[in-house]
Amino acid sequence: MSGVCGVAILGSTGSIGRSTLAVLALHPDRFRVAVLGAFSSWQVVVEQAERFAPDLAVIVDPQAAAQAREALRRSGSRTRVESGDEALAQAVTAANVQVVMAAIVGAAGLMPTLAAVRAGKRVLLANKESLVMAGRLLMEEVRSAGAALIPIDSEHNAIFQCMPAGYLPGDEARGVTRVILTASGGPFRCTSLADLESVTPAEACAHPKWKMGRKISVDSATLMNKGLEVIEATLLFGLPESRVDIVVHPQSVVHSLVEYADGSMLAQLGAPDMRTPIAEALAWPDRMTSGVQSLDLTAIGQLGFEPPDHERFPSMGLARAAARAGGTAPALLNAANEVAVKAFLDRRLNFTGIAAVIDQVLQRLDSCPVKALDDVLEADAAARRLAAALIEPAHGAFA
Ligand code: NAD
Ligand code: MG
Repeated sequence: MSGVCGVAILGSTGSIGRSTLAVLALHPDRFRVAVLGAFSSWQVVVEQAERFAPDLAVIVDPQAAAQAREALRRSGSRTRVESGDEALAQAVTAANVQVVMAAIVGAAGLMPTLAAVRAGKRVLLANKESLVMAGRLLMEEVRSAGAALIPIDSEHNAIFQCMPAGYLPGDEARGVTRVILTASGGPFRCTSLADLESVTPAEACAHPKWKMGRKISVDSATLMNKGLEVIEATLLFGLPESRVDIVVHPQSVVHSLVEYADGSMLAQLGAPDMRTPIAEALAWPDRMTSGVQSLDLTAIGQLGFEPPDHERFPSMGLARAAARAGGTAPALLNAANEVAVKAFLDRRLNFTGIAAVIDQVLQRLDSCPVKALDDVLEADAAARRLAAALIEPAHGAFA
């Protein structure tokens, strides 16, 4: 890209948003922050706006936006503050935005991500839930708008780096036979099934290798994160679910692999630090510094690989079944998971109940073909209602 490139960061106050700002701060000659977007943490947005001087900050919650507006007015900042979901989706389409970091957590990221895609921007996709939900519909929008969708999820970014140059989803002629997603195994890799019943939100959020937001930390503990990533990989790389494998790799050094027809496997290695995929995607097809040190291989010494345990972590199987069913099944899975994870974090559901709730939702709600976005949104709403009813203390099956 020539000239200074304007970046919108959706979810700027989160883990990915902060890492993105840390990388951008190293390259003021190449990038400027044009838009910050967050839900309600207005003090953090104010600090970020004072440091990066964006044109616009969107804080979805109107009261938090009013607080930020007042604080920025007092400090003499020129950053405008807007509120509401609409403003967020509108902000990414602006002419001064070339790159959009989609780093809102959960289904809330779908509409602004879609708006960025439709506006033909370079979209750096951390918000895997939007792709899981809208699937082919989102990929078709990417193609028809001529947008670029670059994965930020460390595994998919690794695969993106290991794919042949110019690979298009489903391009059989390029000799890609399989992709292999690595999984750290999460905080409960060695915990027995019986003990998983009583693990706490604090234990689930204490990831051994990555420092992340609470929702994805719980997804990593149940391994639903890997299930969502299988679906994400099928869409990004145009492969059937049967050609996306999972291998547990506790060191989190190999971030994923691509297998070729000639027996080669290409892997991307690096420290478990999201600034690397973020810098790769921002600079692509060039490279630039990220602030991350490269690996000391002899200090690491050994790398381990083991098969995933589907008995203790049934979420991977549920996600694979949803990928095979297609249609709205991944949206049902994603919505049920979001509701169940929230209930677990609020201590209304135990850890093993998360997969049980999702399983019930997938059994009771049929997958329908996705013809339009409304089909996705209706499936999302229906799965949320059913999951909430299953968890609800007075009537629920999992209270
Ligand atoms: P986080 O909880 O730390 O941050 C979430 C961000 O989203 C915050 O800025 C919050 O203000 C914003 N947000 C939440 N709800 C919103 C709403 N309704 N409207 C607008 N903004 C809203 O989460 P995170 O760990 O940074 O993860 C963000 C996304 O990136 C997730 O989809 C996650 O799966 C993905 N991801 C994260 C990591 C990681 O290392 N953290 C790695 C891979 C993928
Ligand atoms: Mg990942």
